[in-house]
Amino acid sequence: MSVHDVVVLGGGPGGYLAAERLAAAGRKVLLIEKGRLGGTCLNVGCIPTKTLLACAKHYAAALEGERFGVRAERVTFDWSAMQAWKREVVERQLTGLAATEKRLGVEVLKAEGRLLGPGRVEAAGELRQASAVVVATGSVPALPPISGVRGNPRVVDSTGLLEWPDMPRRLCVIGGGVIGVELAGLFGSLGGQVDVVEMLDEIVPFMDRDQAAVLRRAMKAVRFHLGCKVESVDGATVSFRAKDGTAAKIEADLVLMAVGRQPAVAGWGAEEAGLDLRAGAVVVDERMRTNLPGVWAVGDVTGRSLLAHAAYRMAEVACADVLASAGVGPGSRDRMRYDAIPWVVYGMPEAAGVGATEADARARGLAIKKASLPLRANGRFAAEQGFSAVGAVKLIAEAATDRVIGIHLVGAYASEMIWGAAAVVEQELRVSDLKQIVFPHPTVSEAIREAAWEIA
Ligand code: FAD
Repeated sequence: MSVHDVVVLGGGPGGYLAAERLAAAGRKVLLIEKGRLGGTCLNVGCIPTKTLLACAKHYAAALEGERFGVRAERVTFDWSAMQAWKREVVERQLTGLAATEKRLGVEVLKAEGRLLGPGRVEAAGELRQASAVVVATGSVPALPPISGVRGNPRVVDSTGLLEWPDMPRRLCVIGGGVIGVELAGLFGSLGGQVDVVEMLDEIVPFMDRDQAAVLRRAMKAVRFHLGCKVESVDGATVSFRAKDGTAAKIEADLVLMAVGRQPAVAGWGAEEAGLDLRAGAVVVDERMRTNLPGVWAVGDVTGRSLLAHAAYRMAEVACADVLASAGVGPGSRDRMRYDAIPWVVYGMPEAAGVGATEADARARGLAIKKASLPLRANGRFAAEQGFSAVGAVKLIAEAATDRVIGIHLVGAYASEMIWGAAAVVEQELRVSDLKQIVFPHPTVSEAIREAAWEIA
């Protein structure tokens, strides 16, 4: 038996950040990870996808260089070199992460852990005892019961696609959510034939509908089939039916199954230990406490906001409560809030948003005022992206209070601008406050300020 202050189960963003914060506060922390430190995000999610997207953007920029006075002869790309770059970035980040855990004194155990009950985890054949357990087992890809999918070597999930040895010439993506759109954008911009089949009437369901349509239309290298339900897959041929009953087929070389992810609640004793589960996720309160005393859960396993930065924030909220429960520090008033978590779709182009969409506001019965502006009038955007690049900003405010409740962006740099928008929504600023903030010129972010002056 080994005794620790805290045992963390799962070494993804939620788990490793919790371990780091608690170790930095002087706790004796054991971090148990069955695979590779960094979890989904570092190894098969955020970092590898964005690295390959960066490669694709360099390729696209080289192809379009002529417009900017840069002539390159015979622009080509090398998929295996792109893969090598991806691996190098991931490995360097992993080395850095392992060094951080070591520096902070986190004990990392490579093993599969099992929750036995409050304060008790089993791993590598040994009982691990602690006054606090933080569960961060993440999520796994969802696999819908579509005929011909299971066991089909031509059907892969995002992990399989990122490792695919050759660039697929024809890719069919099932699911137009964030992962499907990002990977469709990647392969489309490299010149592949890419089809996305989506059951709903628009891509990326959590996006503002207007902005989702702008993003979809901007992704000219991808063919979207909306309102279409996949019925079967045979080899890499996808058969689907449109809403009007018309049947159609797409012949591809590879099929990406991208219908979402589900919390990883199986195989580590959640049910047996008595954890409260709802809709396949661990139920937590606003301090990330589960129903079991001394057991917290953070990240994707909670089924709320399946994003790395949401996992980070949940970890910080849980850590504050773990420390308060141990009588360390000043006590915790930290609570998890979900209404100002920014999100990004790293498509071609990017999209990002924070807060309410128009549909959310309508569902809440809020009267709103709004402004939508294209980015092409923005000097920096035009200079760097060209006149045919697509971009749009949309600002939504509550009519009664003037409070900014949603900011939605499509276009280059959206991912880098959205944190400022999140600060506006998080701090509950009014449109009049936003108008008084000075933005640097020339920047693309000035479009947010412009929208504030346009709002009606
Ligand atoms: P995970 O990162 O899934 O980590 C959980 C860890 O727990 C895993 O390493 C697993 O091996 C381990 N584990 C599970 N069970 C046990 C056990 N019993 N014992 C020991 N270890 C265990 N999010 C973003 O914010 N931005 C993005 O750009 C982005 N891109 C993505 C792209 C793709 C293709 C995918 C798939 C996801 C992407 N995500 C992105 C989502 C992001 O990866 C997750 O939200 C994030 O990794 C969640 O962190 P987590 O700590 O909850 O879980």
